[in-house]
Amino acid sequence: MRNQGTHERPRPKRKDADVFAGELPEELEYPVDNAPVRSFSHKGMTIEGYSRAAVQTYWRVPELKLGFDLGLQPWSFMSTPNWFVSHAHLDHIAALPVYVARRRLMRMEPPTIYLPAEAVDPVHALMRAYQRLDRGKQAANLVGLEPGQEVELSRELIVSVLETRHTIPSLGFLVWERRKKLLPQYHDLSGPEIRDLRLSGVEVTKEIRLGRLAYLGDTNPAGLDGNPEAYNAEILILEMTFVARNERPDQIHKFGHMHLDDFVSRADRFKNDWIIASHFSTRLHPETIQKIVSRALPEGLRDRVKVWL
Ligand SMILES: [Zn+2]
Ligand SMILES: [Zn+2]
Repeated sequence: MRNQGTHERPRPKRKDADVFAGELPEELEYPVDNAPVRSFSHKGMTIEGYSRAAVQTYWRVPELKLGFDLGLQPWSFMSTPNWFVSHAHLDHIAALPVYVARRRLMRMEPPTIYLPAEAVDPVHALMRAYQRLDRGKQAANLVGLEPGQEVELSRELIVSVLETRHTIPSLGFLVWERRKKLLPQYHDLSGPEIRDLRLSGVEVTKEIRLGRLAYLGDTNPAGLDGNPEAYNAEILILEMTFVARNERPDQIHKFGHMHLDDFVSRADRFKNDWIIASHFSTRLHPETIQKIVSRALPEGLRDRVKVWL
């Protein structure tokens, strides 16, 4: 490392992951990217976000106009109008009033925020408290959800609400794309013939649903096993909070989290194009996490798992 002047301290090695390396604030010489955003694109969806246990979690897919969790709110995320909050732990919801206030400040429509039904009243109270403190109106449409419900965001986009298992009321979400598919018996007909049939009142198509994206928030493996459709979504965002050998699965499950071993033991079930493993604990250095995960995952799964650090 080069030191460019006697009065200057050595430049800290700049790696995004070093934000979590535990330096004391007074030792930081350069501004920290406090709301980092990683990004990844697949089949017309850009997954943007970041998630570390007890730090902050936020995801969005700009093309689908929706996001998951509001642990923090990068400035660029403000334009996304629909948010699904998995649970009310602070690292998943803390930025809710910030986001709501920013939308208003920037003259955007009040957002719609979906969240576990149990969280609606306390969040309303929180917004009222911020309204008094900040003297800015908190305007958002809060919608409480229960597992089994469906949210129709548009004609093409439906979100089903999944039951997950954490230490407080929590939800997962599966985003479906609804398409019309021509029934097989009409495959040989020409365009005008199909049109005439349709005009005469015959149903020539059937509705199909494509599981595009599943997000399970914080959960133990029951949240995954209870929602087998998640294994077939094109992209599955999952928490892998713990990876170290010496961390006990029964304890981890009791606290509503997953371990790397839970992935390995279900390796054959994942049919997803991509699995985003996230929400890693800060106990280990990112490089160590990456190494442990790559070594443990069997072939066939390893190259479909993105370690989101
Ligand atoms: Zn969490
Ligand atoms: Zn949590």
